[in-house]
Amino acid sequence: MNDYIKLLKDQDKLNISIDKTKTFNWEYTKIAGPCSVEGPDIIDIAKNIKSLGANAFRAGAYKPCTYPILQEKNGWKEGLRDEGLKLLQQVKKETGLPIVTEVMDASMIDEVGAVADVFQIGTRNFQNYTLLDALGKCNTPILLKRGTWGTIDEILGACERILVGGNDNIAICLRGVVGMPSYRHVFPSTRWAPDLMMIPALKELTNIPIIYDPSHSTGYRNFVKPISRAAMAAGADGLIIESHPRPEESISDPDQAINYETLREIFNG
Ligand code: PEP
Ligand code: MN
Repeated sequence: MNDYIKLLKDQDKLNISIDKTKTFNWEYTKIAGPCSVEGPDIIDIAKNIKSLGANAFRAGAYKPCTYPILQEKNGWKEGLRDEGLKLLQQVKKETGLPIVTEVMDASMIDEVGAVADVFQIGTRNFQNYTLLDALGKCNTPILLKRGTWGTIDEILGACERILVGGNDNIAICLRGVVGMPSYRHVFPSTRWAPDLMMIPALKELTNIPIIYDPSHSTGYRNFVKPISRAAMAAGADGLIIESHPRPEESISDPDQAINYETLREIFNG
């Protein structure tokens, strides 16, 4: 056990008493939606996704991509941005589903917080301490995505950074890590390697809820269902899945989006 984890254990900081059902219910969480808000059809998409068993809706309005060159398509510029937030507000009104969407920067907490029921923190911001400190000061539940490089002590340290600020409604999202998947020459969109063993490893140390992301961790739609099953079998509290009515036409992450039928099988099978 390394010194940092030992310190947390000695200070009893790992036995955080998260009430998993307080402001957002992290137990058996089924979060789904497309990678990003693409237009007004997001309302119908959300209605469909709710009917398939989702209890929260995800879609990015601000949509940072891993590839650093600015991605643009017909008014979508790494997301529909404030227009996307307005559409998510409409989704909330018409479906009643809680909204999970990304906040990229501390300066955007108020704007995104007016719509978001849960702030998603993207993998690239996992160690953005200014943002983590600001999140500690707000009341909105946080879904903290593991940086693709994050070690177990860095994951717990990032959580601690939010917790010490006073916000104890957090969950860790495991979304795959850097690696060199040996199947990549056959399945080129598999950029990350699933990090399933981290589920029982974290469960041994902390009671922070663990939400698994089978979409980014696999990068390829045919792998999403088996890895969803594996994550739940390994003890995850819930799933966050990318689904789209026409998966291959998704503006972002088209290779990993699953259709409604597969989503239904995962949520109800
Ligand atoms: C996403 O959820 O669409 C996303 C971009 O995730 P990550 O930050 O894990 O890459
Ligand atoms: Mn995505």
